[in-house]
Amino acid sequence: MTELIFYHDAYQKTGSARVRSVTQQGTRWAVLLDRTIFYPEGGGQPADKGMLAGIPVADVRRDGDEVIHLLDQAPPLVPGDSSLLELDWGHRYDFMQQHTGQHIISGVLHQDFGISTVSVHQGDEVTTIETDCADLTEEQLFSVTLRVQQIIGENLPVAPNLLHESDAQLSKLRREPKVSGTVRVISLGGYDHAACGGVHLRCTGEVLLAMCTATEKIRGRIRTAWKIGERALRDYHRKHLALERAGTLSSAPPLEVPDRLEKLLEENLSLVYEKNQLKRQRAADMVQGIFSRGETAAGYRVALESMELDDPELLKHLPGMLPPDFPSFFCLAALVNGEVRWCIAASPSLKLPFQQIRSELLPLIEGKGGGKPPFWQGAGKDPSGTESFLYQLREFIVSYIRRSDNEAEENG
Ligand SMILES: [Zn+2]
Repeated sequence: MTELIFYHDAYQKTGSARVRSVTQQGTRWAVLLDRTIFYPEGGGQPADKGMLAGIPVADVRRDGDEVIHLLDQAPPLVPGDSSLLELDWGHRYDFMQQHTGQHIISGVLHQDFGISTVSVHQGDEVTTIETDCADLTEEQLFSVTLRVQQIIGENLPVAPNLLHESDAQLSKLRREPKVSGTVRVISLGGYDHAACGGVHLRCTGEVLLAMCTATEKIRGRIRTAWKIGERALRDYHRKHLALERAGTLSSAPPLEVPDRLEKLLEENLSLVYEKNQLKRQRAADMVQGIFSRGETAAGYRVALESMELDDPELLKHLPGMLPPDFPSFFCLAALVNGEVRWCIAASPSLKLPFQQIRSELLPLIEGKGGGKPPFWQGAGKDPSGTESFLYQLREFIVSYIRRSDNEAEENG
Protein backbone atom coordinates (compact mmCIF):
# COMPACT_ATOMS: atom_id res chain seq x y z
CA MET A 1 0.00 0.00 0.00
CA THR A 2 1.06 3.61 -0.56
CA GLU A 3 1.75 5.71 2.51
CA LEU A 4 -0.43 8.83 2.30
CA ILE A 5 1.75 11.68 3.57
CA PHE A 6 -0.95 14.31 2.95
CA TYR A 7 -3.02 12.75 5.77
CA HIS A 8 -0.47 13.49 8.49
CA ASP A 9 1.06 16.55 6.83
CA ALA A 10 -1.17 18.37 4.35
CA TYR A 11 1.42 21.15 4.09
CA GLN A 12 4.33 19.12 2.69
CA LYS A 13 5.07 20.63 -0.74
CA THR A 14 8.02 18.49 -1.84
CA GLY A 15 9.40 15.10 -0.86
CA SER A 16 11.05 11.95 -2.09
CA ALA A 17 9.69 8.45 -2.48
CA ARG A 18 10.95 5.06 -3.59
CA VAL A 19 9.67 3.74 -6.93
CA ARG A 20 7.87 0.38 -6.70
CA SER A 21 6.75 -0.03 -10.29
CA VAL A 22 6.46 1.77 -13.63
CA THR A 23 3.95 0.30 -16.10
CA GLN A 24 2.46 1.52 -19.35
CA GLN A 25 -1.33 1.97 -19.25
CA GLY A 26 -2.63 2.84 -22.72
CA THR A 27 -0.89 6.07 -23.73
CA ARG A 28 0.19 6.83 -20.15
CA TRP A 29 2.74 5.57 -17.63
CA ALA A 30 1.57 4.55 -14.17
CA VAL A 31 4.03 5.00 -11.31
CA LEU A 32 3.57 3.32 -7.91
CA LEU A 33 5.59 4.72 -5.00
CA ASP A 34 6.11 3.65 -1.39
CA ARG A 35 4.63 6.99 -0.25
CA THR A 36 3.16 10.12 -1.80
CA ILE A 37 2.28 13.76 -1.16
CA PHE A 38 -0.13 13.71 -4.17
CA TYR A 39 -3.82 13.64 -3.21
CA PRO A 40 -5.84 11.48 -5.61
CA GLU A 41 -9.23 12.71 -6.78
CA GLY A 42 -11.96 12.03 -4.22
CA GLY A 43 -14.72 13.47 -2.03
CA GLY A 44 -15.41 16.30 -4.47
CA GLN A 45 -11.76 17.42 -4.37
CA PRO A 46 -9.74 17.18 -7.62
CA ALA A 47 -6.43 15.37 -7.90
CA ASP A 48 -3.23 17.26 -7.15
CA LYS A 49 -0.97 18.63 -9.88
CA GLY A 50 2.80 18.82 -9.86
CA MET A 51 5.96 17.03 -10.96
CA LEU A 52 7.31 13.53 -10.47
CA ALA A 53 11.01 13.15 -11.34
CA GLY A 54 10.71 16.42 -13.28
CA ILE A 55 7.77 15.17 -15.39
CA PRO A 56 4.30 16.76 -15.08
CA VAL A 57 1.81 14.50 -13.31
CA ALA A 58 -1.23 14.20 -15.61
CA ASP A 59 -3.56 12.56 -13.06
CA VAL A 60 -3.55 10.88 -9.66
CA ARG A 61 -6.00 8.09 -8.86
CA ARG A 62 -6.77 5.86 -5.94
CA ASP A 63 -6.87 2.11 -6.50
CA GLY A 64 -7.75 0.35 -3.24
CA ASP A 65 -4.82 1.01 -0.86
CA GLU A 66 -2.65 2.36 -3.66
CA VAL A 67 -2.21 5.77 -5.28
CA ILE A 68 -1.39 5.68 -8.98
CA HIS A 69 0.52 8.60 -10.52
CA LEU A 70 -0.19 8.88 -14.25
CA LEU A 71 2.33 10.57 -16.57
CA ASP A 72 2.02 11.42 -20.26
CA GLN A 73 5.68 10.53 -20.92
CA ALA A 74 7.93 7.69 -19.87
CA PRO A 75 9.79 8.54 -16.65
CA PRO A 76 13.54 7.70 -16.41
CA LEU A 77 12.79 5.50 -13.39
CA VAL A 78 13.10 1.83 -12.47
CA PRO A 79 11.90 0.09 -9.29
CA GLY A 80 14.15 0.95 -6.35
CA ASP A 81 14.97 4.46 -7.62
CA SER A 82 14.40 7.42 -5.38
CA SER A 83 12.11 9.94 -7.03
CA LEU A 84 11.56 13.66 -6.34
CA LEU A 85 7.93 14.78 -5.81
CA GLU A 86 6.91 18.44 -6.17
CA LEU A 87 3.36 19.66 -5.66
CA ASP A 88 1.77 22.51 -7.58
CA TRP A 89 1.26 24.18 -4.21
CA GLY A 90 -0.93 27.04 -5.53
CA HIS A 91 -3.39 24.47 -6.89
CA ARG A 92 -3.35 22.31 -3.75
CA TYR A 93 -3.69 25.21 -1.32
CA ASP A 94 -6.57 26.67 -3.35
CA PHE A 95 -8.46 23.38 -3.00
CA MET A 96 -7.57 23.07 0.70
CA GLN A 97 -9.27 26.46 1.08
CA GLN A 98 -12.24 25.29 -1.02
CA HIS A 99 -12.59 22.07 0.94
CA THR A 100 -12.25 23.55 4.42
CA GLY A 101 -14.51 26.45 3.42
CA GLN A 102 -17.12 23.97 2.26
CA HIS A 103 -17.00 22.19 5.66
CA ILE A 104 -17.61 25.55 7.38
CA ILE A 105 -20.52 26.48 5.09
CA SER A 106 -22.17 23.04 5.32
CA GLY A 107 -21.58 23.12 9.10
CA VAL A 108 -23.20 26.56 9.48
CA LEU A 109 -26.15 25.58 7.27
CA HIS A 110 -26.67 22.47 9.40
CA GLN A 111 -25.91 23.73 12.93
CA ASP A 112 -27.47 27.18 12.74
CA PHE A 113 -30.10 26.91 10.01
CA GLY A 114 -31.17 23.24 10.00
CA ILE A 115 -30.29 22.89 6.31
CA SER A 116 -28.53 19.73 5.09
CA THR A 117 -25.95 19.45 2.34
CA VAL A 118 -27.02 17.03 -0.41
CA SER A 119 -23.90 17.20 -2.61
CA VAL A 120 -20.84 19.35 -3.17
CA HIS A 121 -18.56 20.07 -6.10
CA GLN A 122 -15.24 21.88 -6.01
CA GLY A 123 -14.76 23.44 -9.42
CA ASP A 124 -12.02 25.60 -10.90
CA GLU A 125 -14.21 28.70 -10.56
CA VAL A 126 -16.65 28.07 -7.72
CA THR A 127 -17.48 25.50 -5.08
CA THR A 128 -21.13 24.51 -5.26
CA ILE A 129 -23.19 23.18 -2.36
CA GLU A 130 -26.55 21.65 -3.14
CA THR A 131 -28.86 21.91 -0.12
CA ASP A 132 -32.08 20.15 0.84
CA CYS A 133 -34.01 23.40 1.21
CA ALA A 134 -36.51 24.67 -1.35
CA ASP A 135 -36.08 28.39 -0.66
CA LEU A 136 -33.40 30.67 0.68
CA THR A 137 -34.04 34.41 0.91
CA GLU A 138 -31.34 37.03 0.39
CA GLU A 139 -31.62 37.86 4.07
CA GLN A 140 -31.11 34.23 5.16
CA LEU A 141 -28.19 33.93 2.80
CA PHE A 142 -26.60 37.01 4.30
CA SER A 143 -27.06 35.55 7.81
CA VAL A 144 -25.40 32.31 6.64
CA THR A 145 -22.48 34.26 5.12
CA LEU A 146 -22.06 36.31 8.28
CA ARG A 147 -22.01 33.19 10.46
CA VAL A 148 -19.52 31.51 8.09
CA GLN A 149 -17.29 34.58 8.45
CA GLN A 150 -17.51 34.36 12.24
CA ILE A 151 -16.37 30.70 12.18
CA ILE A 152 -13.46 31.69 9.91
CA GLY A 153 -12.61 34.52 12.33
CA GLU A 154 -12.72 32.21 15.37
CA ASN A 155 -9.77 30.41 13.78
CA LEU A 156 -10.97 26.99 15.00
CA PRO A 157 -8.52 24.09 14.68
CA VAL A 158 -9.35 21.72 11.80
CA ALA A 159 -8.40 18.32 13.13
CA PRO A 160 -8.75 14.86 11.64
CA ASN A 161 -9.59 11.98 14.01
CA LEU A 162 -9.78 8.30 13.22
CA LEU A 163 -12.80 6.75 14.93
CA HIS A 164 -14.17 3.25 14.83
CA GLU A 165 -17.65 2.77 13.43
CA SER A 166 -18.82 1.65 16.87
CA ASP A 167 -17.53 4.83 18.55
CA ALA A 168 -20.31 6.78 20.25
CA GLN A 169 -18.67 10.01 19.07
CA LEU A 170 -19.86 9.22 15.56
CA SER A 171 -23.40 10.17 16.62
CA LYS A 172 -22.19 13.80 16.57
CA LEU A 173 -21.49 13.64 12.83
CA ARG A 174 -23.31 16.08 10.55
CA ARG A 175 -24.22 13.17 8.28
CA GLU A 176 -23.97 9.38 8.26
CA PRO A 177 -20.49 8.20 7.22
CA LYS A 178 -20.30 6.43 3.84
CA VAL A 179 -17.57 4.02 4.98
CA SER A 180 -17.52 1.26 7.57
CA GLY A 181 -14.70 0.20 9.90
CA THR A 182 -12.41 3.14 10.61
CA VAL A 183 -13.98 6.52 9.90
CA ARG A 184 -11.87 9.63 9.35
CA VAL A 185 -13.67 12.55 10.98
CA ILE A 186 -12.83 16.21 10.37
CA SER A 187 -13.76 18.48 13.27
CA LEU A 188 -13.91 22.28 13.23
CA GLY A 189 -13.12 22.78 16.93
CA GLY A 190 -16.21 21.54 18.76
CA TYR A 191 -18.53 23.17 16.22
CA ASP A 192 -18.87 20.70 13.37
CA HIS A 193 -17.88 17.08 12.74
CA ALA A 194 -18.04 15.34 9.36
CA ALA A 195 -16.60 12.15 7.93
CA CYS A 196 -14.21 13.09 5.12
CA GLY A 197 -11.19 11.75 3.26
CA GLY A 198 -10.00 15.04 1.77
CA VAL A 199 -7.11 17.35 2.65
CA HIS A 200 -7.84 20.41 4.75
CA LEU A 201 -6.25 23.53 6.21
CA ARG A 202 -5.01 23.41 9.80
CA CYS A 203 -7.38 26.14 11.01
CA THR A 204 -10.50 27.92 9.78
CA GLY A 205 -8.73 31.31 9.70
CA GLU A 206 -6.75 30.27 6.63
CA VAL A 207 -10.01 30.15 4.63
CA LEU A 208 -9.86 33.99 4.74
CA LEU A 209 -13.24 34.68 3.14
CA ALA A 210 -16.23 32.80 1.71
CA MET A 211 -18.86 34.60 -0.34
CA CYS A 212 -21.95 33.19 -2.01
CA THR A 213 -21.96 34.45 -5.61
CA ALA A 214 -25.04 32.67 -6.99
CA THR A 215 -28.00 30.51 -6.09
CA GLU A 216 -30.16 28.44 -8.40
CA LYS A 217 -33.00 26.00 -8.02
CA ILE A 218 -32.15 22.50 -9.12
CA ARG A 219 -34.43 19.46 -8.69
CA GLY A 220 -36.63 21.69 -6.50
CA ARG A 221 -33.75 22.48 -4.13
CA ILE A 222 -31.42 25.43 -3.71
CA ARG A 223 -27.85 25.06 -4.96
CA THR A 224 -25.42 27.73 -3.80
CA ALA A 225 -22.16 28.70 -5.50
CA TRP A 226 -19.26 30.07 -3.42
CA LYS A 227 -16.00 31.87 -3.97
CA ILE A 228 -13.71 30.76 -1.16
CA GLY A 229 -10.24 31.80 0.01
CA GLU A 230 -7.98 33.86 -2.23
CA ARG A 231 -10.54 33.34 -5.02
CA ALA A 232 -13.11 35.27 -2.96
CA LEU A 233 -10.68 38.16 -2.40
CA ARG A 234 -9.76 38.29 -6.09
CA ASP A 235 -13.44 38.15 -7.02
CA TYR A 236 -14.24 41.01 -4.62
CA HIS A 237 -11.32 43.04 -5.99
CA ARG A 238 -12.31 42.48 -9.64
CA LYS A 239 -15.98 43.25 -8.99
CA HIS A 240 -15.02 46.39 -7.09
CA LEU A 241 -12.90 47.60 -10.03
CA ALA A 242 -15.66 46.71 -12.53
CA LEU A 243 -18.26 48.62 -10.53
CA GLU A 244 -15.94 51.61 -10.16
CA ARG A 245 -15.47 51.64 -13.93
CA ALA A 246 -19.20 51.25 -14.54
CA GLY A 247 -19.73 54.17 -12.16
CA THR A 248 -17.24 56.38 -13.99
CA LEU A 249 -18.74 55.46 -17.38
CA SER A 250 -22.32 56.09 -16.29
CA SER A 251 -21.52 59.12 -14.09
CA ALA A 252 -23.05 57.55 -11.01
CA PRO A 253 -21.76 56.44 -7.59
CA PRO A 254 -20.99 52.67 -7.77
CA LEU A 255 -24.07 51.59 -5.82
CA GLU A 256 -26.36 53.67 -8.03
CA VAL A 257 -25.05 52.12 -11.25
CA PRO A 258 -27.99 49.65 -11.68
CA ASP A 259 -30.60 52.43 -11.44
CA ARG A 260 -28.58 54.64 -13.78
CA LEU A 261 -28.18 51.74 -16.19
CA GLU A 262 -31.91 51.04 -16.17
CA LYS A 263 -32.57 54.66 -17.11
CA LEU A 264 -29.91 54.63 -19.84
CA LEU A 265 -31.36 51.43 -21.32
CA GLU A 266 -34.81 52.99 -21.43
CA GLU A 267 -33.38 56.06 -23.18
CA ASN A 268 -31.50 53.81 -25.56
CA LEU A 269 -34.66 51.91 -26.48
CA SER A 270 -36.44 55.10 -27.47
CA LEU A 271 -33.36 56.29 -29.40
CA VAL A 272 -33.23 53.00 -31.31
CA TYR A 273 -36.92 53.39 -32.10
CA GLU A 274 -36.36 56.95 -33.35
CA LYS A 275 -33.33 55.88 -35.38
CA ASN A 276 -35.35 53.13 -37.06
CA GLN A 277 -38.13 55.57 -37.84
CA LEU A 278 -35.58 57.90 -39.49
CA LYS A 279 -34.09 55.03 -41.49
CA ARG A 280 -37.52 53.93 -42.63
CA GLN A 281 -38.23 57.49 -43.77
CA ARG A 282 -34.88 57.65 -45.60
CA ALA A 283 -35.59 54.32 -47.29
CA ALA A 284 -39.07 55.50 -48.28
CA ASP A 285 -37.65 58.73 -49.77
CA MET A 286 -35.02 56.73 -51.62
CA VAL A 287 -37.60 54.37 -53.19
CA GLN A 288 -39.84 57.28 -54.11
CA GLY A 289 -36.90 59.11 -55.73
CA ILE A 290 -35.89 56.06 -57.76
CA PHE A 291 -39.46 55.52 -59.00
CA SER A 292 -39.82 59.21 -59.91
CA ARG A 293 -36.71 58.97 -62.13
CA GLY A 294 -37.97 55.78 -63.80
CA GLU A 295 -40.14 55.26 -66.89
CA THR A 296 -43.50 53.74 -67.72
CA ALA A 297 -43.87 50.70 -69.98
CA ALA A 298 -47.28 49.24 -70.79
CA GLY A 299 -48.78 50.56 -67.55
CA TYR A 300 -45.84 49.42 -65.39
CA ARG A 301 -43.54 51.81 -63.59
CA VAL A 302 -39.99 50.59 -64.24
CA ALA A 303 -37.13 51.97 -62.17
CA LEU A 304 -33.54 50.73 -61.98
CA GLU A 305 -30.64 52.53 -60.33
CA SER A 306 -27.25 52.07 -58.83
CA MET A 307 -25.86 54.21 -56.04
CA GLU A 308 -23.16 54.33 -53.40
CA LEU A 309 -24.85 53.60 -50.10
CA ASP A 310 -23.26 54.94 -46.92
CA ASP A 311 -25.70 53.02 -44.72
CA PRO A 312 -26.30 49.38 -45.71
CA GLU A 313 -29.00 49.12 -43.00
CA LEU A 314 -31.31 51.06 -45.32
CA LEU A 315 -31.55 47.91 -47.46
CA LYS A 316 -33.26 46.13 -44.56
CA HIS A 317 -36.09 48.62 -44.72
CA LEU A 318 -36.63 48.43 -48.49
CA PRO A 319 -39.16 45.55 -48.65
CA GLY A 320 -41.56 47.47 -46.40
CA MET A 321 -41.32 50.59 -48.56
CA LEU A 322 -42.26 49.12 -51.94
CA PRO A 323 -45.83 49.68 -53.05
CA PRO A 324 -47.62 46.30 -52.85
CA ASP A 325 -50.34 46.73 -55.48
CA PHE A 326 -48.69 49.31 -57.69
CA PRO A 327 -47.79 47.76 -61.09
CA SER A 328 -44.06 48.15 -61.05
CA PHE A 329 -40.56 46.76 -61.41
CA PHE A 330 -37.81 48.06 -59.13
CA CYS A 331 -34.11 47.31 -58.94
CA LEU A 332 -31.49 48.91 -56.75
CA ALA A 333 -27.81 47.98 -57.12
CA ALA A 334 -26.19 49.52 -54.05
CA LEU A 335 -22.41 49.75 -53.83
CA VAL A 336 -21.45 48.86 -50.28
CA ASN A 337 -17.89 48.11 -49.12
CA GLY A 338 -16.65 47.11 -52.59
CA GLU A 339 -19.54 44.79 -53.46
CA VAL A 340 -22.91 45.18 -55.12
CA ARG A 341 -25.91 44.59 -52.86
CA TRP A 342 -28.79 44.17 -55.27
CA CYS A 343 -32.51 44.01 -54.61
CA ILE A 344 -35.37 43.54 -57.02
CA ALA A 345 -39.08 44.04 -56.39
CA ALA A 346 -41.84 43.29 -58.88
CA SER A 347 -45.63 43.37 -58.63
CA PRO A 348 -47.00 39.82 -58.45
CA SER A 349 -49.07 40.56 -61.60
CA LEU A 350 -45.79 40.81 -63.53
CA LYS A 351 -44.95 37.11 -62.89
CA LEU A 352 -41.25 37.96 -62.94
CA PRO A 353 -39.09 35.16 -64.47
CA PHE A 354 -36.43 35.47 -61.76
CA GLN A 355 -34.66 32.19 -62.64
CA GLN A 356 -33.88 33.61 -66.09
CA ILE A 357 -32.51 36.83 -64.56
CA ARG A 358 -30.41 34.81 -62.15
CA SER A 359 -28.85 32.61 -64.82
CA GLU A 360 -28.45 35.22 -67.57
CA LEU A 361 -27.89 38.59 -65.90
CA LEU A 362 -26.64 38.17 -62.33
CA PRO A 363 -23.34 36.68 -63.61
CA LEU A 364 -22.52 40.19 -64.95
CA ILE A 365 -21.82 41.25 -61.36
CA GLU A 366 -20.80 37.75 -60.15
CA GLY A 367 -24.06 37.93 -58.28
CA LYS A 368 -25.77 35.43 -56.03
CA GLY A 369 -28.99 35.50 -54.07
CA GLY A 370 -32.68 34.77 -54.35
CA GLY A 371 -36.08 35.38 -52.85
CA LYS A 372 -39.73 34.97 -53.69
CA PRO A 373 -42.36 37.27 -55.17
CA PRO A 374 -42.45 40.17 -54.72
CA PHE A 375 -38.90 40.58 -53.39
CA TRP A 376 -35.47 39.17 -54.27
CA GLN A 377 -32.04 40.16 -53.02
CA GLY A 378 -28.40 39.20 -52.90
CA ALA A 379 -24.86 40.40 -53.46
CA GLY A 380 -22.41 40.55 -56.35
CA LYS A 381 -18.63 40.48 -56.09
CA ASP A 382 -17.91 42.50 -59.24
CA PRO A 383 -19.09 46.14 -59.07
CA SER A 384 -17.50 46.86 -62.49
CA GLY A 385 -20.40 44.99 -64.15
CA THR A 386 -23.10 47.05 -62.42
CA GLU A 387 -23.82 49.42 -65.29
CA SER A 388 -24.04 46.64 -67.83
CA PHE A 389 -26.21 44.56 -65.44
CA LEU A 390 -28.72 47.39 -64.99
CA TYR A 391 -28.74 48.23 -68.71
CA GLN A 392 -29.43 44.65 -69.77
CA LEU A 393 -31.93 44.08 -66.98
CA ARG A 394 -33.86 47.18 -68.10
CA GLU A 395 -33.88 45.98 -71.74
CA PHE A 396 -35.02 42.55 -70.60
CA ILE A 397 -37.80 43.83 -68.31
CA VAL A 398 -39.19 46.41 -70.71
CA SER A 399 -39.42 43.91 -73.56
CA TYR A 400 -40.81 41.26 -71.17
CA ILE A 401 -43.56 43.65 -70.00
CA ARG A 402 -44.44 44.66 -73.58
CA ARG A 403 -44.52 41.05 -74.74
CA SER A 404 -46.74 40.04 -71.80
CA ASP A 405 -49.00 43.00 -72.55
CA ASN A 406 -49.33 41.99 -76.26
CA GLU A 407 -50.09 38.38 -75.32
CA ALA A 408 -52.73 39.57 -72.87
CA GLU A 409 -54.33 41.71 -75.59
CA GLU A 410 -54.32 38.87 -78.12
CA ASN A 411 -55.87 36.55 -75.58
CA GLY A 412 -58.38 39.25 -74.61
ZN1 LIG B 1 -13.36 17.40 3.94
